[in-house]
Amino acid sequence: MSSFEGSEIIYHPQKRRKSLSLRFDQSENVFHFYYPDFISRAYLLKFLMDKQKWMEKVRKTNAGKIILKIEDLPPRNEIFQFFKQRLDEISLESGLNYRKLRLRKMKSRWGSCSADNEITLNTLTFLLPANLRDFILYHELCHTKIKNHSIKFYELLRKHVPEERKRNRELKDYILT
Ligand SMILES: [Zn+2]
Repeated sequence: MSSFEGSEIIYHPQKRRKSLSLRFDQSENVFHFYYPDFISRAYLLKFLMDKQKWMEKVRKTNAGKIILKIEDLPPRNEIFQFFKQRLDEISLESGLNYRKLRLRKMKSRWGSCSADNEITLNTLTFLLPANLRDFILYHELCHTKIKNHSIKFYELLRKHVPEERKRNRELKDYILT
């Protein structure tokens, strides 16, 4: 690993590769640079110089965010028990009924709700603060009534979670791995 203008880069010269590719790994906070092994150092530097602005932007977006990691999770059945109980409480209180709860590891979403009202939660949701966990449960429960993210959906969600916009912003401080 070495540093290029303040960004950590891991270099991956590859034998049969034809193109150059620079990817950012959020969870490690490093860039991975893949390129054909015959390419000259000058060319690589030129490529990185051209990517400078983009790299700076990516680093800034990632700064100060909290990374949720699978390793930090308790046993799965504990997580399931916890969410099942909380979801039932909120369901009872709000009058929004779901059919079934499932847990899954997902890379890009907190949860989902199927056409037949089966709620799937990202296992990593467990690591969020309590108010954000509840927020996600309310969000998915509201999908039992409205399947899309229309204005009507957010109106319904705000009825149950008035500080919906604030919660959505807070969620952006967390990164899924
Ligand atoms: Zn949704």
